[in-house]
Amino acid sequence: MFIEVADLELHPIDFQEEFAPDAIDLGADVRQRTPLKTGGRAQLVEEHRGKHKVLQDIRLQGELSTSLELPCARCLDPVISDVSRSFDLLYRPLGSDAGNEEQAVTGPEAEIGYYEGEHLLLEDVLREQTLLAVPLKVVCREDCKGLCPTCGKNRNVELCACEHPVEDLRWAALKDIREKLQH
Ligand SMILES: [Zn+2]
Ligand SMILES: [Zn+2]
Repeated sequence: MFIEVADLELHPIDFQEEFAPDAIDLGADVRQRTPLKTGGRAQLVEEHRGKHKVLQDIRLQGELSTSLELPCARCLDPVISDVSRSFDLLYRPLGSDAGNEEQAVTGPEAEIGYYEGEHLLLEDVLREQTLLAVPLKVVCREDCKGLCPTCGKNRNVELCACEHPVEDLRWAALKDIREKLQH
């Protein structure tokens, strides 16, 4: 969906969209597994630069939710993770900050992007925001044993003959702590 500056000059645009699974390309490691739902509002914000220059910024506020498939951090098996995120973004015309980087940052909370030409493609925004919502680390299950660092076998599926003294010690220590907490 294109958000056109020409339309925004007339009135803000409220959007409510649903994108089919895999419609948003999230790269090699992450897949969009369920419809991505999004809703929000786009409006034009005039930003005065000096005496005569007025930038037409697009402010985009909204939220998104979907389910992602991504690899388990330990064994790489696919894991489904529900994500949702709300956003409040400002897009300036591309090139408007060229040469004066200082002005590009207006505050720690402000997220500034740029749009090219006369419109902003909602899908691009959603791709970026969905990737920002991806959890840093997911595991298929709490006690996932992961891949053997020596032979590469998935230790949830089959035992290998390699020795893992360091891992075992760490695991024992964790178990110890857990038992103490429970008593
Ligand atoms: Zn796993
Ligand atoms: Zn092994």
